[in-house]
Amino acid sequence: MQTFDPSIILYTPDALNARGKQALLAYPQAAQQEIKQHNRLPALEGNHYQIKSNALVLGRLKTLVCRESGRSSDFIAPSLANGCMGACAYCYVDRNKAVNPITLFTNTEEILRAVDKHVHQQAWPKVPNQTHARFYTYDIGCNSDVSVDASISDSVQTAVAFFREHPKAFATFATKFVNPELLTYDPQGKTRIRFSLLPKRVSKLVDVRTDSLEKRLAAIADFYQAGYEVHVNFSPVIVYKGWLDDYRELFEQLNQVVPPQLKQTMDCEVIFLTHNQGQHELNLAINPRAEELIWAPNIQETKQSQFGGINVRYQYQRKAVWIHEFRQLQQEVIPWCTIRYIF
Ligand code: SF4
Repeated sequence: MQTFDPSIILYTPDALNARGKQALLAYPQAAQQEIKQHNRLPALEGNHYQIKSNALVLGRLKTLVCRESGRSSDFIAPSLANGCMGACAYCYVDRNKAVNPITLFTNTEEILRAVDKHVHQQAWPKVPNQTHARFYTYDIGCNSDVSVDASISDSVQTAVAFFREHPKAFATFATKFVNPELLTYDPQGKTRIRFSLLPKRVSKLVDVRTDSLEKRLAAIADFYQAGYEVHVNFSPVIVYKGWLDDYRELFEQLNQVVPPQLKQTMDCEVIFLTHNQGQHELNLAINPRAEELIWAPNIQETKQSQFGGINVRYQYQRKAVWIHEFRQLQQEVIPWCTIRYIF
């Protein structure tokens, strides 16, 4: 994984608990600047993408709310972090912010106490569903990439230990990075890692600054052996001439690398691409070749986002056909990899 090495750290005073101070010490060459609010940053040098690798923000998360999900998990845990070093052309975390450096919320224990309180308010035993038959599942990586966050502080290790011991709660996150440090966390089957996979030639264009498809595929067996439940996340699915041929190749690669025992438990989730008008305009200046793939008005339709921007998604009727084709291919090549949901 590319090393995260910020040249400036912005921090709110209330973020400087032991974890926050440790993060400051970890990057001694970085300039430090106190700020009043973690979500109101001063002007920073560099463009949107440079700031993602040059700046780190330390803050304290005050809104400790678990939100309903129902897809990747039962609930979305309060964020351990927000923002990412990666620069994927379609990333929804980036859409609604002018700049989006990694903001590490240092009050991990408070965040986990909120999860504990929340899960104890749920009926028990849980009614089994597609997210898990027994435990309530909490996505801990909806606004960041947890593998990157784990390289900055011990917050992810603390979270994995919390879920390992918890009698009712189970953690899950999707990732496009491979951080070997996570292999030492001993999750004992209580954390599910979902490796995001796109066909190689597409991934090279749109998954900017993430680890390669080969690295993600090669890591699957290691994470399984280290005690993680491992799933795959086919998202976003991008449609272009020949897309199904590329997915056939990807499925065949997956077939090769997944150990037979893991094939009995590995499921997948599938989400077709959504994009965004503002993001499209930004990308045109930085990554126009990616836009040729992901901005396709002749097969997309617009949708007002809940944050007021204009999102686009594939036209409903076309997508229904593609979902059918995707399912057929999955049944043919990787029938062991059950689709938990697809849309
Ligand atoms: S790795 Fe995930 S969070 Fe990071 S930029 Fe890519 S899609 Fe966004």
